[in-house]
Amino acid sequence: AANRRFHPQDTVIDVAGRKIGGGAFSVIAGPCSVESEEQIICVAEAIKASGAQFLRGGAFKPRTSPYAFQGLEADGLKLLLEAKKATGLPIVTEIMSQTHIDLFADVDVIQVGARNMQNFQLLKELGHSKKPILLKRGLANTIEELLMSAEYIMAGGNPNVILCERGIRTFETSMRNTPDLAAIPMIKHQSHLPVVFDPSHATGIPWMVEPLTKAALALGADGVMIEVHNNPGAALCDGAQSLNFEQFAQVMDTVKQRAPQE
Ligand code: PEP
Ligand code: MN
Repeated sequence: AANRRFHPQDTVIDVAGRKIGGGAFSVIAGPCSVESEEQIICVAEAIKASGAQFLRGGAFKPRTSPYAFQGLEADGLKLLLEAKKATGLPIVTEIMSQTHIDLFADVDVIQVGARNMQNFQLLKELGHSKKPILLKRGLANTIEELLMSAEYIMAGGNPNVILCERGIRTFETSMRNTPDLAAIPMIKHQSHLPVVFDPSHATGIPWMVEPLTKAALALGADGVMIEVHNNPGAALCDGAQSLNFEQFAQVMDTVKQRAPQE
């Protein structure tokens, strides 16, 4: 169960020999979407050089408009595996449908996006896998609902769930979402599962990534997930919130000064 009452000790999740949770602060970084082989390898090399431990990149993208770029889909997954081969970084990427689970066989961490947090059939089928799952909090879901969604995965026999706070919808409009920073210690209080914070989607603003990464660290988060692009102005998705390599290196300097790294 996800509740700390049944499992007082913090859960540590093994991802391809690296650990998430249990004291180390993990950094997952990469573009919103995989766009080409050159792009994903270039970003992977840059984030690795700055000290990130995991590469993210969307292949199946949950876009608001059906006319927007939907991701490279299965070809994007292949390019992520190329980037993993080139850099050794484990990969994190979003699944949109249970019919695609077989395609994700070589992915290290399967992400369930905010929009699918309560896709119960998808959660049930991920429960039959042993893969680590990064479960993002829905745009308008409570902490209790997030923990119940984790429970769906765990009830099927998969204990490897990482929770992600990525901001929620409120009346505030100055940021893309409202970062619910207090959710970090509250979730850690209620659950033994690792908690990662996503300052990129929580704010939608590049300069806010560094202060909120510091805040997440201070609040006991087990890591952050940050969007980084080789050329944010030309990104096919979420360029406006993505850090360039120099900005990301600066955030990593801050993290390295303050946090134990795996
Ligand atoms: C993402 O991580 O690119 C993403 C789509 O995030 P979310 O599901 O939190 O909106
Ligand atoms: Mn994104």
